[in-house]
Amino acid sequence: MNHGSPITVHGGGTAGSAAAFLLARAGRRVLHVVDAERGRPSPPEILSPWARSLLAQLGLPEPQEATPCEGVLSFWDGSEPEFNDYVLMTASHGLAVTRHAMRDALGRAGGAAGVRRLARTMGGDDEVSDGPGAGTYQLLARGRSVRTPRCCEDRLVALFMPCAEDRAALRLVVEPARDGWWYLPPQVGPVRYVVFVTSPALAPTGPERRYDWLRSNLACTELIQAAAGGGRFDAVAGMDARVARAEALTWPTGARIGDAALSLDPLSGTGIVRALEGAALVVDDILTRGAVSTRYHEWVESVDTEESKVRAGFYERAAARFPDGPFWQRRCAARAPLRRRGTSREASSVAFRPLGSAPV
Ligand SMILES: Cc1cc2nc3c(=O)[nH]c(=O)nc-3n(C[C@H](O)[C@H](O)[C@H](O)COP(=O)(O)OP(=O)(O)OC[C@H]3O[C@@H](n4cnc5c(N)ncnc54)[C@H](O)[C@@H]3O)c2cc1C
Repeated sequence: MNHGSPITVHGGGTAGSAAAFLLARAGRRVLHVVDAERGRPSPPEILSPWARSLLAQLGLPEPQEATPCEGVLSFWDGSEPEFNDYVLMTASHGLAVTRHAMRDALGRAGGAAGVRRLARTMGGDDEVSDGPGAGTYQLLARGRSVRTPRCCEDRLVALFMPCAEDRAALRLVVEPARDGWWYLPPQVGPVRYVVFVTSPALAPTGPERRYDWLRSNLACTELIQAAAGGGRFDAVAGMDARVARAEALTWPTGARIGDAALSLDPLSGTGIVRALEGAALVVDDILTRGAVSTRYHEWVESVDTEESKVRAGFYERAAARFPDGPFWQRRCAARAPLRRRGTSREASSVAFRPLGSAPV
């Protein structure tokens, strides 16, 4: 790649927007191809203090619409709840934000830095050879759901639904159940969501059976049940939460970044930090070396290993609490870092509708 040649970035989430901004700020010509659709509603995500500090270091703004998050209250092995107090650890709180607000804030920063934005209605494929920016260096940042060859470790789905009770709380609450784990983020906007991350294979088909299954999984929790007061099981929507790693991270004319390269279990809570770190690393390589180096491959490998170890600790504790739960037994058996287990070209096959359409 010529050091002055234009670059095309695909995907308007955290990774793509951060990369486009950093490249443009360094004086590179950037075409940023984003999805024209605003996307479906999704539950809030937490910008941890580490993510907030990384945003500030990179010169990126935080979304204005946000709710403070003081830390993470979790109850893994059923003995004592633990509170991971952000303020105590970092003298700063986190923020609960929506994906839309994140996308808008980072997109505006890119525009101010000179990024040229092209909004298109996109298919699910990760093919760019004849699309916009063909012939330029391509950064693919289209998230975890795009169809691409990958080493697929774990198909997860996040089922989210409005809470029965609408209580103000400034903590993220996390707790395992028999067939997955629940989380309850602080409310951002008019609806408070509670989320169940599970395997689509365990979810019964048919609204009534699914309703009972969700209710029984909520009944195994203490903190979530107390804090959420129940869920609107008749208004469930789903989003892809798969854990996977792309087969090809880089090639001579491009690279994958963010979830398109390595999508972590949402349990890690570090997806946004990793998306920002990976984007910054790749941009630094492009600006200083003219191409993405092996440093990026090593970084992805080390993140994968590190995150897998942390997750394994949680999986084991949940498996001890739910020894008969196939969800946790399977995760304990497969806790090694993502390995090549056959190639998946499939996009998300999540059979849940977006919220607002007919109940599942
Ligand atoms: C249920 C869930 C909860 C999570 N909670 C947290 C959390 O609390 N904290 C945290 O740090 N991380 C969390 N994460 C992880 C975090 O969301 C991701 O790691 C992060 O958003 C990755 O950013 P990205 O830019 O790679 O992908 P995305 O944010 O998914 O962005 C991809 C973008 O590409 C667009 N796109 C898709 N297809 C195309 C196409 N064909 N052409 C152009 N554009 C396309 C999409 O519309 C989207 O805007 C969570 C993940 C899940 C699934």
